[in-house]
Amino acid sequence: MSIIIDGNKIAQDIRQAVREETLVLTRRTGVVPGLAVVLAGDDPASKVYVRRKAKACEEAGFLSREYKLPADVGEAELLDLIRDLNNDRQIHGILVQLPLPKHIVTDKIIAAIDPHKDVDGFHPANVGRLVTGSPLFVPCTPRGIMELIARTGIGLSGKDAVVIGRSNIVGKPMSFLLLAQNATVTMCHSKTKDLPAVARRADVLIAAVGKPRMITADMVKEGAVVIDVGVNRLESGKLAGDVAFDEVAPKTSAITPVPGGVGPMTIAMLMKNTLDAARLHF
Ligand code: NDP
Repeated sequence: MSIIIDGNKIAQDIRQAVREETLVLTRRTGVVPGLAVVLAGDDPASKVYVRRKAKACEEAGFLSREYKLPADVGEAELLDLIRDLNNDRQIHGILVQLPLPKHIVTDKIIAAIDPHKDVDGFHPANVGRLVTGSPLFVPCTPRGIMELIARTGIGLSGKDAVVIGRSNIVGKPMSFLLLAQNATVTMCHSKTKDLPAVARRADVLIAAVGKPRMITADMVKEGAVVIDVGVNRLESGKLAGDVAFDEVAPKTSAITPVPGGVGPMTIAMLMKNTLDAARLHF
C-alpha cells in the first residue's frame, strides 16, 4: 500500500521543534535568531513567499526583518545592503528572494553574502562544502526532501536514485545529498535520452522539472518512493505537481502530494537553517 507523505504535518512538527529549541537558546544565551529577507521588485509570487517567511519567523520566536527595494534598485545599493547585513550582529541569516530584477547579476549578489549567514545555501562556498561532503548550509528544498525520505524509513544506501532536473536550487544539491547517503544517483535533464527507461530504474524518483504531470505511471517502478517537487499553476487555477499523482500513486511505496508534500518543507528548513546559523555564533 502506498503511503501519502504528509509534508504539512512533518513541516509543522519541525517548526514546532524549532520554536522549542529557539526558546531554550534564547533563555540560555539571550540570542534571538535573526533572519533578513531582501525583496527587490514586486513579483507577486515572491511577495507571497516573503510574507510566509516573515510569519514563520514570528511563530518560531525569531527576529524577522524585511527589506523591500524597488525593481530598479542598483546593484551597488543592493551590495551595500548585503554588506551591512553581513556586519549586523542581530542578523544570523540573509535571504535574497529570487528571481532578482534582470539588470542585477544574481551570482554577484549571492557571492556577497557571508557564507555563515547564507541560510539558502546558494553561496559558492556552501555549494563547494556540500559537494565535498562537509556541508554548512544546504538549500532548503532538498534538505526538506531528505527529511521526508528519512521519515518514510527507507534506507538510501545502495538504492538507485534518479533526479529529474538539474537546477542549482533543487536538482544538483538534491543529487549530492542522495550521494552522501550512498545512493547511486542519476541526474536527468532536458537532453536525457529515453527518460522513461532511466526513470523506471529508480527506487527513489525525484521530479523537479516544472512540467505538470509529466511523470506518468509507465515511468515509475513498482514500489518506488516518488517525490514531486513541481509546483505548476494550471489554467483552471489549480496547482499540479510534475507527477500524474492519480495514476502513479498506486504503484509507489510512498509519494508526496502537490500541494502538501515538498512545498511546506522549504520554509520549515529555512527556519532550521536560521536557527543553525544563530548557533554558529556560540
Ligand atoms: P528550473 O526551471 O531551474 O529547472 C528545471 C529542470 O528541468 C532543468 O534542469 C531542465 O533541464 C529540466 N527539464 C525541463 N524539461 C525537461 C524534460 N522534458 N525532461 C527532463 N528534464 C527536463 O526549475 P527549478 O529546479 O527551479 O524548479 C523545478 C520545479 O520545482 C518547478 O515547478 C518549481 O516551481 C518547483 N520548486 C518547488 C519548490 C518547493 O518549495 N516546493 C522550490 C523550488 C522549486 P535543462 O537543465 O536541460 O534545461
